[in-house]
Amino acid sequence: MDLKTPGLYIHIPFCLSKCLYCDFYSSTSLSALPLFLDALFKEMKMYRSRFNQFDTVYIGGGTPSLLSPQQLEQILTNIRENFDLISNTEITVETNPADLNRSYLESMREIGINRINIGVQSFDQEVLAFLGRRHSLTQAISAIEVSRRTGFHNIGLDLIYGVPGQTIESWLDTLKQAVAFSPEHLSCYQLTFETKTPLGKRCQAGEFSIPGEELQYEFFMKTSQFLIDAGYIHYEVSNFARGTEYTSQHNQKYWDHSPYLGLGPGAHSFQDNQRWWNHRSIDQYITAINAGNLAIEDIETLTIEQLRLEALYLGLRTKKGVYLEDFKNRYDCDLFNEKKKMLDKLQEEGFISIQNGRLYPTSTGLAVADSLSQI
Ligand code: SF4
Repeated sequence: MDLKTPGLYIHIPFCLSKCLYCDFYSSTSLSALPLFLDALFKEMKMYRSRFNQFDTVYIGGGTPSLLSPQQLEQILTNIRENFDLISNTEITVETNPADLNRSYLESMREIGINRINIGVQSFDQEVLAFLGRRHSLTQAISAIEVSRRTGFHNIGLDLIYGVPGQTIESWLDTLKQAVAFSPEHLSCYQLTFETKTPLGKRCQAGEFSIPGEELQYEFFMKTSQFLIDAGYIHYEVSNFARGTEYTSQHNQKYWDHSPYLGLGPGAHSFQDNQRWWNHRSIDQYITAINAGNLAIEDIETLTIEQLRLEALYLGLRTKKGVYLEDFKNRYDCDLFNEKKKMLDKLQEEGFISIQNGRLYPTSTGLAVADSLSQI
């Protein structure tokens, strides 16, 4: 993957029902879907002069798999009409297991989608019900099996841990069931309880208690060890791949400060030290685009200090870490000399390693990556 070639993100802000833990903005009414798609295609045209080539495409949401095969095809056709996709472009679509059947998956493959992310979340039916997921365990298993049979060779599963009442053993059982399918990629996220969500409210009302810091740490470390033992690379705080070729090329753009264009409501973009993002509201987005304007809510220009801090923060979330020489060339900062005392301390405490000019987090460091960035 070329660091300079941008990635393209398309945000589909619709879901058929709302999961009980979700605080992302998405609409459960599909009435605006045709107008949204129309606006999305217009937005692509507006960016033609600023972006011309991509080597990754990520269609996320929301729930992109609620789109019909024809709508997905329209999106890919419009992308190709407006931009150049290099050969072997990684094209990922996020999916809900309930939407995946043989004919849908075949259509996805026919239009060039070569990577699917399946939002399985758990192999425990009770956990799925607690989270308010739209799919059942049976549907999750069938979705993975049919995806494989349809010929997908790059399948990612999303899983959630830290559910109230969940034991380390029951979580490891979910992981065992997941690796039995040999997915190429696994994302394991800690459940968070945002105050405005139904689960957040139940939590505030004292209906259940959430795992404390120590238990969360144990979940994290056990997950890492289990998946490493199963042959996966723990390449980012929440992400695991069955070989370097299966790491997410698209997400790597975010961690490397590579350029990316985000289209659709709320989508973020980054290019030439500038970050900008669209209105989150579907109506505001459609109105702006139909008036012939970009749907940008705000733009920020990052200073070199902000870029350095971000690069360090993002680098310390990845196993690859930060190459000190690259960092110096790109951000004009000699980390090794300027932060020597602090780096020595973190190394002594076992959070980071510095070897062959590379600064990277240990597995304990990955578990506390957020605070490591404060150096
Ligand atoms: S499918 Fe994803 S975006 Fe939609 S409600 Fe559930 S967690 Fe939120």
